[in-house]
Parts: sequence; structure tokens; C-alpha cells
Amino acid sequence: MKKAFFLDRDGVLNEEGDEETGVLFEPEKVLLTPGAAQAVKKIHEAGYLAIVVSNQGAVALSWYTMEDVYAVEKRLCELLWQESGHAPDAFYYCPHHRKGVIPEFSTYCENRKPGPGMLLKAAKEWDIDLSSSFMIGDRLTDMQAGINAKCSQCCFVLTGHGGKDEEKVRQEGFTVKNTILDAVEYLLNKYKENGECH
Ligand SMILES: [Mg+2]
Ligand SMILES: [Zn+2]
Repeated sequence: MKKAFFLDRDGVLNEEGDEETGVLFEPEKVLLTPGAAQAVKKIHEAGYLAIVVSNQGAVALSWYTMEDVYAVEKRLCELLWQESGHAPDAFYYCPHHRKGVIPEFSTYCENRKPGPGMLLKAAKEWDIDLSSSFMIGDRLTDMQAGINAKCSQCCFVLTGHGGKDEEKVRQEGFTVKNTILDAVEYLLNKYKENGECH
């Protein structure tokens, strides 16, 4: 079986968009967070998959479309490739939202984090052992999704929305790091010490 780093997208690999709404849908506005490209490279070099799991409920709210989501993904991958020669292995999205206005997307969905659905689907499709995999995110709901999928450990980062949920996440005992690169290095070092083979 394989092992993976599950990564939230917005606020973890790329900066959040517009300051007020946090909405990002224009590819030309994609900016990497500090260390994002090196983080993906380190994940791959350590023998893990890099799998993105991203709530995109704004699609249900009609703020933007799935075409916009894919355009941002394409630009994000270009930027990561340019900097480190590595990009995520797969992207999973949940476009659903209970309070949406687009009928086909306006429903409760177990894939929407904190639900574990996207991680479980990826695990099935990629033959991933969740108990030796990790989740990195900038929201409490990212941490909960990782727990619900029974990942080995979840790590919170302070980029993106990180500041908003920091207190709650610390109270619940999650490890907090400044950036995705710090989180990846921390997790790789920690689980190397525990005698994992390379
Ligand atoms: Mg996020
Ligand atoms: Zn969904």
C-alpha cells in the first residue's frame, strides 16, 4: 500500500484570494504560500503521494464554477512545477453546500470536510494506507476530516485562514506550524524517528 500527505489547497498550497471573501477563482491571481513547492518535492522524495482535498462549496453558492476551480488548479501546478519540478498527484474537490443556490450542488455531502469522503475515495483509488498518512490544513474542519478518515496525524498551518482557527485547534491538541514546508518537515522527521523504513 501507498502512503500520502493529504493537503488542503487554498491557504495551504496557494494563498487565499480576495482579502474580504477569501475567494480565489482567477488563475492569474494564484500565488504559492512560502515553501509550498519545496514541500511537495519533499513529500515525493520521502516516498509519499501528495493528494489535494479541497472544499469548493462556493461553486454551489454560484460565486464561481468548476471550470474556474480547474483553471486555478492548472495554474497552481504550473507554479509548483516551475519552482521544484513537483506537483500534487491528484486533486479531489467537493463543490456541494447545503445553502447553495445551484440546485445540482445544493445538498449535504459527506465529502465536504469535516467529512472524510474525499480522503476515503482517494485511499480507495490510490491504494493508500490511511493509518500511515497525514493531513495538513488551515481550518479546524481540515483537522477533523483527517481524524474522521483515521489519518496518522493532522498538522495545522498558519498560512491562509490559519489564524482564525488557531486557538480552537491548539485547545484540541493539534500541532501547529507556520507553513506547509514546516509541517511536512516536522511530520517526516517525527515518523522517521519512530523507525519507519525508507
Ligand atoms: Mg484552506
Ligand atoms: Zn460533495
